[in-house]
Amino acid sequence: MDHAVVVVGSVNLDQVIEVGALPRPGETVRGGPVLRLGGGKGANQAVAVARLGASVALVGAVGSDADSARLREELAAEGVAVDRLASVPGPPGQAIVLVDAAAENCIVVSPGANAAVGPAEVTVAREPLARAAVVLAQLEIGLPAVLTAARLTRGTFILNPAPAPTADGLPEELWGLIGVLVPNRTELASLSSMSAPTSSVTEPMSSAAEPTDSVTEPTGSVTEPPAPMTEPAFAELVRQASALPCERVVVTLGADGALVREGSAIELIPAPTTHAVDTTGAGDTFCGALAVALAEGRPLAAAAGFAVRAAALSVTRTGARTAMPTRAALDTADG
Ligand code: ATP
Repeated sequence: MDHAVVVVGSVNLDQVIEVGALPRPGETVRGGPVLRLGGGKGANQAVAVARLGASVALVGAVGSDADSARLREELAAEGVAVDRLASVPGPPGQAIVLVDAAAENCIVVSPGANAAVGPAEVTVAREPLARAAVVLAQLEIGLPAVLTAARLTRGTFILNPAPAPTADGLPEELWGLIGVLVPNRTELASLSSMSAPTSSVTEPMSSAAEPTDSVTEPTGSVTEPPAPMTEPAFAELVRQASALPCERVVVTLGADGALVREGSAIELIPAPTTHAVDTTGAGDTFCGALAVALAEGRPLAAAAGFAVRAAALSVTRTGARTAMPTRAALDTADG
């Protein structure tokens, strides 16, 4: 069966403990009950896609234990095709998450089965990858696996560079295969500090760094940065996005929405005003929704608008997966 979207990425068991205050080095603190939740950026983004009504397969790996079986079943119950999800000996990826009263968190990820996802595990999905309108990957699996997925993609390859790559940055070949890069502010800052502009960047950095001239909204010109952001901060974002050797970049900006760079054009898509109660998983909802909208053939800025609306809805509810909107809920919210 063909899938509109194929996600290549991690599957984790998240073990979440609420604490009054995060422990300092050497300190022991008492926490609440351990919540065991399905997580991992790959799995979460695949669930976001399925909720929004697109056919989706997940390529990656779980382990061989009972937790892994449960993770696989949960994904299948969400409508994610798991026939290209390998089972390897040992535990699945696991994240130990400590959350304090102010919703500040501290996370340790043990890659488990995700470490076994290499070129061979991706190549078994050669056909679905080649037929998908959109392939979506993140960096919780190794770069060789991500590069293999990008090479096998015939549609649009979206990379969510999370967590931010280490000092070596992304390989040059991968930059050339990225259809759309979707970093958050931190990932953008780290990638732009690593990548020198190349000939594939159409607009020189200096002129793109003038937001008042180059920034437009879907409805017209934006002459000011969004309210909480200073003009220099906004100009710096534009400079960083324009410095990347990738023509199409969508930067997620939390409550400020998203910045879309397409060649030399920059567009700001503000987030609707919402009462945010929990932003966990907002980035995963955004990436999944962007993939769905691009697979439906929407232009990049319109697809980013769809993703901004889906992610805004997700922050009004608690939890990562539980908060991801269905297509019906999004249509209702859109009126
Ligand atoms: P996370 O790691 O918490 O999933 P992230 O750092 O990857 O998030 P953000 O830029 O914080 O990503 O958020 C992703 C998108 O979610 C934003 O581009 C925006 O559309 C939406 N969003 C996040 N916070 C809010 C908010 N307070 N109000 C409205 N929309 C929000």
